[in-house]
Amino acid sequence: MARLRRSIDAYGITTRTLEVLRVADVTPGMRRVTMGGPQLAAHIAPNGNPVAAFRSDGFDDAIEVVLDRPDQPGTDRPTQGRGVVRWPRDGAHILSRAYTVRRWDAEAGEIDVDVVRRVGGPGTAWVQRVRPGDEIQIVGPKASAGHPEGVAWTLAAGDETALPAIGRWLEEWPEGARGRVFVEIGEDSHRQDLPIPEGVELTWLSRRGAAPGTAPLLLDAIRSAEWWDGTPYVWVAGEAAALASIRRWLRNDAGLPRDCVEVSRYWRRSASEGESDRGAQTRGRSGTLGQPGVWGPDAANGRLEAIYRKADIFPGFALRVAATIGLADALADGPRTARQIAERLGIDRAGAPKLLRYLESIGIVKARPGGAVEAGAADGTETTGTSDAAPGMVAYTLTELGRELEDERIAEALGLSNPDVVKEIGGMLSLAPAVAGKRSDDDVEHWFSAPFSDGAKHHPGILAEKVAQEAEQASYNAGSLAADPVFEGDSYVIVGGTGGIEYATALVEVYEDMLVVVMVSEYEQDEKQRSGSHPRIVFVDDPVEAVKAVFTHSMLTTGEPSKPDAIFFTNLSSPNDDESLAMVLGSAASTLAEGGHLLLLEDVLDPTAATGCDYEADLVEFSLGGGGIRTDDEFLAVFQQAGLRLRGRHAIGWGRTLFELEHVKKPDRSEEPDQTADA
Ligand SMILES: Cc1cc2nc3c(=O)[nH]c(=O)nc-3n(C[C@H](O)[C@H](O)[C@H](O)COP(=O)(O)OP(=O)(O)OC[C@H]3O[C@@H](n4cnc5c(N)ncnc54)[C@H](O)[C@@H]3O)c2cc1C
Repeated sequence: MARLRRSIDAYGITTRTLEVLRVADVTPGMRRVTMGGPQLAAHIAPNGNPVAAFRSDGFDDAIEVVLDRPDQPGTDRPTQGRGVVRWPRDGAHILSRAYTVRRWDAEAGEIDVDVVRRVGGPGTAWVQRVRPGDEIQIVGPKASAGHPEGVAWTLAAGDETALPAIGRWLEEWPEGARGRVFVEIGEDSHRQDLPIPEGVELTWLSRRGAAPGTAPLLLDAIRSAEWWDGTPYVWVAGEAAALASIRRWLRNDAGLPRDCVEVSRYWRRSASEGESDRGAQTRGRSGTLGQPGVWGPDAANGRLEAIYRKADIFPGFALRVAATIGLADALADGPRTARQIAERLGIDRAGAPKLLRYLESIGIVKARPGGAVEAGAADGTETTGTSDAAPGMVAYTLTELGRELEDERIAEALGLSNPDVVKEIGGMLSLAPAVAGKRSDDDVEHWFSAPFSDGAKHHPGILAEKVAQEAEQASYNAGSLAADPVFEGDSYVIVGGTGGIEYATALVEVYEDMLVVVMVSEYEQDEKQRSGSHPRIVFVDDPVEAVKAVFTHSMLTTGEPSKPDAIFFTNLSSPNDDESLAMVLGSAASTLAEGGHLLLLEDVLDPTAATGCDYEADLVEFSLGGGGIRTDDEFLAVFQQAGLRLRGRHAIGWGRTLFELEHVKKPDRSEEPDQTADA
């Protein structure tokens, strides 16, 4: 997603159960559900994880309501993780629907959602039958974004699903800001009495009974509106297909830059909608619109899932790697730990557990705690507590499906050294330049003729894209990081890692006396330009320069050399293998001031909640960078290797973990050695 001209503050994702306090119809087309209860306040979830107080600062913040599917048995609910929500792995019995937080009154302890009344799916059915006293589990909001910045004026448009956001926006509209607002509604009786701030023009567009998502009212209104001078920010939300043509017009015809166009798909009209619309109108006329709606198929989600499944390249490739290394041979005489498998096959010890847990997620191997066969036991007798199988270690066996790899012919056919497979991969990698007719294009050739991982690793476009993505993530999480008290008392901070510029900017905003030195890579020069200059941020291009800059600054200001109170790194895990990560962290920590701390912000792989996608991302990062997305245990092992002690962990933004570390001084011979990296 392109970064937009709205400041975004991401916070840890929460889930809580609320009580429905009131249900009222705002208009014949919109029902308001007011919810409240003690869980709006900060509390501890039954699983011991903290749940932050409910928060909603932005006009288009959304929550998801969690609903049961009556046609699917199951009782598991989403639960609170550390800064994230854990959805049940087998969650076919639940679904969720997004609704805007129309009102959040912290004093009264109430939130409102306004839901469009129509005959539709489970969300509609819920709002038709909901009664005061009912309980409802919600998730989020997970971020709040502000009014657009740095634009001449704002154009907001949407159908009735966007009306709650637009209504809240008009109530919170910044003084003096100009805006044109278009709202599409089913019929005139669905108009709401909204405040119209000075400088804003509001136009209601009625479909006059036509089905939602069928009339091009919004596109026509936007196209024919009088456009004031200067670049506007355009916010549009509503039906997916209707929005596609609006987005095209805004970008191609109106020529608006990407960061000024925010088009959000709030719902999708299904292909068979024509029929159900007719049904809806008939039922409406016969007066049963107030009854629970039908449970429509979750068609939009199903299609999305199917298209991603079809596009997935990785599972097949990982399976072929398993065949190539002879995984079935390694497991022929019973369960083995990842380390035993690595030793048997002579493969990488860090890569083996990553490959195995990914293969587990796609159903090729299964894991169970302990229970590895004694290495070298010829009879396959299982013994626990082998020299290798430490407590908590898992042993792997093939699943029924995975056992197909035991057939040599199948393993050979799938293996990457099979000439047919090599040919297929060659074809796959050449497909893009061949189809695009760009065989002579250096850029594309570089990608596909060099070894693939090399191409992907060093391709400037990929690196630049990665930097842009990290910077975008950082812009969401920076507020949450700066709000964490861990930086209190720090005057000199060194910041490094992609996205560091965003974090540095947020830190100097919160801490008025803090000097921040940011290490900027060659790919972050654009970000640096964009962020502009700040009197308390010093940009440097390498770590040695960073230390020198702090030294010079302190000599100039206090006449004394000074060391940093904190060194903050982010996104170091993926591109560094264990040894280099330990080296970077250890040597950085040794430059800290007495009592100083090293802070590392990373995504941590949680094996109790991770999905196949997480394992795939881990494996891809590992293949390209040598590090990957480490588990907590894997981080602790690196910290120990680096001679660091863990002071604490903090949840930041959407489930990222900030490790606070300190350097363990080398013990005197007379002293007992320190315990490092204890949890
Ligand atoms: C960020 C965000 C904020 C949103 N805020 C609101 C809000 O404040 N109020 C609100 O009412 N909606 C809001 N929506 C839209 C809402 O989530 C969808 O309309 C949702 O699909 C309704 O769920 P459902 O179970 O009723 O229908 P689904 O199960 O999703 O769909 C069932 C059938 O109903 C049709 N359908 C779905 N939505 C509509 C609709 N609005 N009009 C006509 N047909 C429809 C579908 O095409 C499908 O055929 C928001 C969506 C997002 C992403």
